[in-house]
Amino acid sequence: MVEAGHGGLTLLIPEDELRAGVATLAREIDRDYATTGVVIVCVLKGAAVFTADLLRILRAEVHRLEFVRASSYGSGTQSSGDVRVTGTLDTRYMAGQHVLIVDDIADTGHTGMAVKDYIRSLGPASLRYCTLLDKPERREVEVQYDYVGFTIPNHFVVGYGMDFDERYRGLPAIYYFPDP
Ligand code: 5GP
Ligand code: MG
Repeated sequence: MVEAGHGGLTLLIPEDELRAGVATLAREIDRDYATTGVVIVCVLKGAAVFTADLLRILRAEVHRLEFVRASSYGSGTQSSGDVRVTGTLDTRYMAGQHVLIVDDIADTGHTGMAVKDYIRSLGPASLRYCTLLDKPERREVEVQYDYVGFTIPNHFVVGYGMDFDERYRGLPAIYYFPDP
């Protein structure tokens, strides 16, 4: 279905399905962190909107919210294996904590691997990975994603925090660019 107003974008996950999917993830996370609480590490920028929605419906206690940035040196929509983790994360507060990484998309897996390795080096008591979307067809390295919202086909998607050249992050649903 092509929505008017978002030139050429095709709807993939409408708002109500997104809301339901995020709520399902929240209930799984609540169950696993009910007794320990959780420290959340959001992978900027794409996961910012998802993280904000997730946070507001979690019932498990969130002890801390931190942010990292993962940038790959790939060009355009291709991810290269060379991922650098940067950002403002306060490294003092990961040791001994139950840490949950929150990301937008699992694609090749390079970002997941790099962010996990980085947080693991800071000595958390446990480490899990939550991704809103998963494109398993594209995986190049094996990474365990503990919570997956939606498994999707190999499309380049935008909206709900995700961009193409920094645009479209504010769209409330998830869209893709159809093949020409
Ligand atoms: P990786 O390939 O390392 O698993 O994912 C790299 C990053 O590329 C993701 O975290 C996400 O930020 C971005 N990415 C991967 N697929 C898409 C996509 O379809 N749309 C957008 N906007 N970003 C994507
Ligand atoms: Mg990302």
